[in-house]
Amino acid sequence: MTYDEIIELFSKLGVLRSGHFLLTSGLHSNKYLQCAQLFQHPEATSKICRQLAEQLAGLDIQTVIGPATGAIILSYEMGRQLGTRSIFAEREGGKMTLRRGFHVKPGERMLVVEDVVTTGGSVKEVISVVKELGGEVAAVAALVDRSGGKVDFGVPTHYLLKLQVDSYSPEKCPLCKKGLQITKPGSRKLT
Ligand SMILES: [Zn+2]
Repeated sequence: MTYDEIIELFSKLGVLRSGHFLLTSGLHSNKYLQCAQLFQHPEATSKICRQLAEQLAGLDIQTVIGPATGAIILSYEMGRQLGTRSIFAEREGGKMTLRRGFHVKPGERMLVVEDVVTTGGSVKEVISVVKELGGEVAAVAALVDRSGGKVDFGVPTHYLLKLQVDSYSPEKCPLCKKGLQITKPGSRKLT
């Protein structure tokens, strides 16, 4: 798939919406990303993950891990594509950790996945969890980089898409100035 084909699919499925959005942070934005809109379609999810997995050939990944909840399905499908185990980390009392009997062996080669990288905070927490357990973070892979290339995880990082998403304070919002009606997207998670 080309960049344009991925954008077209994301737009068609409502993963990527253009307009005038009120984010949880209070900022206004011209684009809105909701990867759950992709994950509700297993076939499309599989197609998209195959694209990302192709970038990871030869990395000898043993296990895929992502932060709950946004990356659970992504981790699962990436694991399926790569023929590896798939687990997820989640917060307990605010701290990212492994629960449910999940484990990482010393030296295990891990791929950390995320749907959208904005600040990279959750991914960095998952990397710490893996390292604390003695695992080796072979790479990070995410569907979308909307950080503007600003995030450095210290390991090879693969993105399916790099997207410029502008956000504005309400006072400075050019979309408000144009009088465009604002929408508040349905989810709290605005990664
Ligand atoms: Zn606005």
